[in-house]
Amino acid sequence: MTYDTQPNASHFVNGAPLEDATGDVIDVIYPATGEVIARVHAATDAVIAEAVAGAQAAQAEWAATPPRERGRVLTRAAQILRERNRELSVLETMDTGKPLSETLVADATSGADALEYFGGIAAGLTGEHIPLGRDWAYTVREPLGVCVGIGAWNYPTQIACWKAAPALACGNAMIFKPSETTPLSALKVAEILVEAGLPAGLFNVVQGAGAVGAALTTHPAVDKVSLTGSVPTGRKVYAAAAESIKHVTMELGGKSPILVFDDADIEDAVGGAILGNFYSSGQICSNGTRVFVQKGLRERFVARMAERMAEAVIGDPLDEATNFGPLVSARQMEIVTSYLEKGKAEGARLVAGGERLDRPGYWVTPALFDGVTDDMTIAQEEIFGPVLSVLEFETEDEAVARANDTTFGLSAGVFTRDLARAHRVIGRLRAGTCFVNSYNDAPVEMPFGGVKMSGVGRENAKAAIEHYSQLKSVYVRMGPVEAPF
Ligand code: NAD
Repeated sequence: MTYDTQPNASHFVNGAPLEDATGDVIDVIYPATGEVIARVHAATDAVIAEAVAGAQAAQAEWAATPPRERGRVLTRAAQILRERNRELSVLETMDTGKPLSETLVADATSGADALEYFGGIAAGLTGEHIPLGRDWAYTVREPLGVCVGIGAWNYPTQIACWKAAPALACGNAMIFKPSETTPLSALKVAEILVEAGLPAGLFNVVQGAGAVGAALTTHPAVDKVSLTGSVPTGRKVYAAAAESIKHVTMELGGKSPILVFDDADIEDAVGGAILGNFYSSGQICSNGTRVFVQKGLRERFVARMAERMAEAVIGDPLDEATNFGPLVSARQMEIVTSYLEKGKAEGARLVAGGERLDRPGYWVTPALFDGVTDDMTIAQEEIFGPVLSVLEFETEDEAVARANDTTFGLSAGVFTRDLARAHRVIGRLRAGTCFVNSYNDAPVEMPFGGVKMSGVGRENAKAAIEHYSQLKSVYVRMGPVEAPF
C-alpha cells in the first residue's frame, strides 16, 4: 500500500488530535482488497467527556462571534477542501472502496459546496421585526448549543460537512461520530476546519460504534442529534433523544421508486436508473431501487439496461477508468448476496450481474432483476447494494399507488416527455426529494430529506438553518402596562 492512511490519533478534540489507546480497537479495511489500512480506537468515557466539555466551552464564544466571521472560516475551509480534493478523494476511496472517479467529484467537493453555501449565508441569518401597532416584537435566531452528528459509511466526508456546515454557520459546536466502518475522512475535515481558523472545540471527531453514538445521544449537555443511518438505528436514536427533548434530524433509509412511462426518453431513463442504483455500488439511501416501467417500454428498457450494464468498468477503485467498485464490507456483501438469493428464490428473473467475484475484497457485480412483484422481499426491503428491480405497470394511477405502498418516503423519480404528467405524478408521490427526468442530484441549494419512516428534518439549503437554530421571540411594550389590579 503506497498511501499513508493511518491517522496520527483516533479522535480530534479541542482543536487537536487525541488518542486514548484503552478504547476498543477498530480496524479500517480497504474494501477492494480486504487489507487493514489503519487502526483507531473507540472513544472511551473520558474522550466523550472531554469532547462535550470542550464543545460547550467553545460554543458560547462562537455564538458571540460576528456571523460573517463564522462564515469566513467556513468558506476558507471549503477552499482548502477543494485544493486538497485529490488527496482527500484517495483517502475516501481507501475508506469506502468507492472508485476515485466518483470520490473526485462527489465527496470532498460536495462537502466544500456545503461549507461554501453555509459560509455564504451565515451573515444573512437574521430574525424579523413584527409590527404590532404601538407595540412590536422581534425574533432572534439563536444557535441550539452542542450538536451531535452521527454518520453512515457511504459518504463520510459529505455527511460530516453537510452536518457541520449549517451547525457552525448558526453558531453551534459539533461533535461528529463517523461510522465505525469509515472513520478516516472526518478527521481530515476537522484538521482543515482548524487550519481555516475554526477555534478549538467547535468541531470534534470521536470514533466508535453504536455505544459511543448512544452515549452522545443521551448526554445531558447535548442539544441536538443529527443521524444519517438506517431506520432501526433512527428509531433508537430518536427515542433516546426524546428522553431529554433534544432536537433531531433523521436522515434514514429508503426503497424509492422510479416511474418510467412509455413516452420517456429511453436512454435518459436507463441512465437515471443506473445513477439511482449503481453509483457507489448502490450504497446510497435515496436510490430508486424499485423501477416501475410501463408495459409498452418494459422489454426494451430491460434489454437496453442490460447492454449498458455490460459496459461497467469494475476493478481497481484507484484507477480513474473504473466506475464500479466493491461493497464497503464483508457484512454488506453478505447482506447483498442474501437478497440476491431471496430475489431468485421468490421468482424474480435475474437478467444480468449479481455475481460475487472471486478475488480479495467485497465484490458483487451490478444486478438487474426483471419480473419483480410488489410482495417480493427485494421490492420491500432496503438492500443498500447494486440490485435494481424492474416492476411492470399499466396505468398512472396504478403506478402511483404501488410506488407509495411502502413505509419509506425518501426519494422518487419520474421519466416522461409529458411534463404535465410528470408534475401531476410528483405531486402524488409521498417522498421528500423528487426528480423529473433525472435521478439522485443533490445540490446543496436544494433541501434533502425524507417523509414517513425515511426521516425527519431537512439537510442542505436554507431549510437546514431551521434545524440548527431556534427563534427567541421578544415582545416590546412601548406604553404603560395595563394590569387588572
Ligand atoms: P447504521 O444505522 O447501521 O449506522 C449509522 C450510524 O449510527 C453509525 O455511525 C453507527 O455507529 C451509529 N449507531 C448505531 N447504533 C446507534 C445507537 N444506538 N445510538 C447512536 N448511534 C448509533 O447505518 P449504516 O449501515 O452506517 O448506513 C446505511 C444506512 O444509512 C442505510 O439505511 C441508508 O439508507 C442510510 N443512509 C441514509 C442517508 C440519508 O441521508 N437519508 C444517507 C446515507 C445513508
